[in-house]
Amino acid sequence: MGAGFWGTAISLALREAGREVLCLDCDQPGAASPAAAGLVRQSTLDRLAVSGPRWWTEQHSQACQDFLQWGMAEGWARLGQERIVSDYQPRLRPGLWCVECAQLLSLAGAESGRVVRLEPRSGHWWVETEEGPVQARQVVVAAGFFSDALLAASHLPTLGIQPLPGSGLLAQASRPLLEPLTLAYRLTGDTRTRTATARNWVGNRVRVGDTLEPGEHEQMEVLRQLLEQAGGQGPIVKRWGIRPALVQLCVEKVAENLVVASGGKRTGLATAAGAARRVVDLLSQ
Ligand SMILES: Cc1cc2nc3c(=O)[nH]c(=O)nc-3n(C[C@H](O)[C@H](O)[C@H](O)COP(=O)(O)OP(=O)(O)OC[C@H]3O[C@@H](n4cnc5c(N)ncnc54)[C@H](O)[C@@H]3O)c2cc1C
Repeated sequence: MGAGFWGTAISLALREAGREVLCLDCDQPGAASPAAAGLVRQSTLDRLAVSGPRWWTEQHSQACQDFLQWGMAEGWARLGQERIVSDYQPRLRPGLWCVECAQLLSLAGAESGRVVRLEPRSGHWWVETEEGPVQARQVVVAAGFFSDALLAASHLPTLGIQPLPGSGLLAQASRPLLEPLTLAYRLTGDTRTRTATARNWVGNRVRVGDTLEPGEHEQMEVLRQLLEQAGGQGPIVKRWGIRPALVQLCVEKVAENLVVASGGKRTGLATAAGAARRVVDLLSQ
């Protein structure tokens, strides 16, 4: 369930492991992946190797590298041919990749469907969707921030996923930026100095993004000005999403044949394939 970064990586990994997978996604407004900046820093994976969840090993970091390299070299290009993802930006600078994350749903081979409840029934899971029920031997809930709502509706233990809203503004670029443009700013009544960065983006665009604060209107104005300063022109597209925040990435069996995978917070793209690898291992035990 879910075709964000995590559900996509999980579906692909399970298929690769020879499983028959049905991936359902309801195109939930506020999903994180379509809004993500798409930056993958090597340091993220290195840090996880030291202080990540206890199950995170070199294998999980390696799975991330392989996935991203596959994604850059083949996957996204192939999808481009299929007119699903039209463009991508493979690399910004050494150690930092950038993927345009559009329409992951198709990459996961997902079908449209909203899951409303899960119920164990004599050796299988009864997956109730708005379109009707589906029976599954095993279920993976990878619905980002929205995972807890489904678990609660199914009377299953929840994870306590916190919402961390973020937003990105995109506009056509009048000229490419020679280097990222960073602005330090402070919102009225806030003691914290914040920074926002404008970067070149795919399709001759420029992008600015930040975590959204309650004073969103004022913040958007600051970001809009930075976007213009960075050469953004014409209509501005706003993408927003809720990052699923947990203290640590969670990929756990919460019931027999049921795995919940969420908590990517700010690094969900970077870590998706490592999480997928863990799912495959858990479902094989
Ligand atoms: C502005 C912004 C910038 C970011 N930048 C980066 C970055 O640079 N690098 C990085 O690594 N990460 C970044 N992130 C974080 C990253 O985007 C997230 O951690 C990641 O996308 C989470 O993926 P997910 O698949 O767990 O959740 P989501 O992307 O939220 O996917 C959940 C999916 O589940 C589906 N769903 C929900 N409920 C149901 C239901 N009941 N039935 C069926 N389907 C359902 C939704 O439609 C959705 O497609 C950023 C996030 C934001 C918002």
